[in-house]
Amino acid sequence: MEPPEIERLDERTIQRIAAGEVVERPASVVKELIENSLDAGASRVAVSVEAGGTEGIRVRDDGVGIPADQLEAAVAEHATSKIADIEDLEAGVGTLGFRGEALYTVGAVSRLTVRSRPPDAEAGAEIAVEGGDVGAVRPAGCPVGTTVEVADLFYNTPARKKFLKRVTTEFDHVNTVVTGYALANPDVAVSLEHDGRETFATEGNGDLRSAVLSVYGREVAESMVEVDWEPSSAAETDEGRKGGDPAVKRVTGLVSHPETTRSARDYLATYVNDRYVTAGALREAVLEAYGGQLAPDRYPFAVLFVEVPPDEVDVNVHPRKLEVRFDREAGVRSAVESAVEAALLDHGLIRSTAPRG
Ligand code: ADP
Ligand code: MG
Repeated sequence: MEPPEIERLDERTIQRIAAGEVVERPASVVKELIENSLDAGASRVAVSVEAGGTEGIRVRDDGVGIPADQLEAAVAEHATSKIADIEDLEAGVGTLGFRGEALYTVGAVSRLTVRSRPPDAEAGAEIAVEGGDVGAVRPAGCPVGTTVEVADLFYNTPARKKFLKRVTTEFDHVNTVVTGYALANPDVAVSLEHDGRETFATEGNGDLRSAVLSVYGREVAESMVEVDWEPSSAAETDEGRKGGDPAVKRVTGLVSHPETTRSARDYLATYVNDRYVTAGALREAVLEAYGGQLAPDRYPFAVLFVEVPPDEVDVNVHPRKLEVRFDREAGVRSAVESAVEAALLDHGLIRSTAPRG
């Protein structure tokens, strides 16, 4: 038998495969768009989705906007206003996402429209991308700021589309992401709408408890106690230290009363160096701190900001994942546990236990 010929895939196919690798579901798109809005200095970010985001996603902000003559660049491959070279990237600049890839990538697997008006522009402009085909820039009436619309995600990658779950599941993921950013940015008014109905809207008044109230409701907000912990203020185990340097510099946030819980899933929003992340170690540390106070299969609410030395956390495990890894996981774990435990003890919500051996 003749060996088959090896051929290079065409650009469109390459583009779609790559896009499917990083854009997992509507929630991943929402995450990127919110990050762009926050990077643009927005004070309001309004997210609205249709059918869990599978049919439509719209993120509107009042940020710095994109000048008409830069709209094409904004949706182009490897185009960013945020980093210039690999050194910027490694220095851990404040911006996140796909490093100049988000709009390009989303445009490859959906019908994307970016409409924008910088504050000093007399009128707005828009650009549309359909399955990677970039249209012409056209004038458009719009308020100051940027609106990004994504319709029919994965319409041209049916295999990817098949992996989407039920609308309610996809919306749960979207809700988790928007909630995560809303709680991390209490000074920004963040709202979420699903099929025309408001899920929540924060005030943007800078107060974390007020943001919690908007997102989780009054009962939860009122039951939460403040966490503010630094290593000097508590006894720390030696494993948490390296050359005298603590593994965690500070832990702040809010945690709920052990009886203010929900079943089946947890409501833990955790941030490492102000970045929204998930980490099994953080989750376990929080649950551990409640000790035996939680009823079986009941989970507390927590919003926790953990500050660690930047060079000891790896946030780039995978672009579509929120997971992080810590160099000194045991140290982080015990610090977070101490922090939550101290807050609960202070408020008489748990009884002190014998020090762990
Ligand atoms: P990155 O965010 O990594 O730069 P993106 O593809 O997400 O890459 O965005 C490309 C560029 O488009 C950004 O660098 C920014 O200049 C511009 N941009 C995207 N979204 C917005 C927004 N909401 N407001 C202002 N500028 C934006
Ligand atoms: Mg981006």
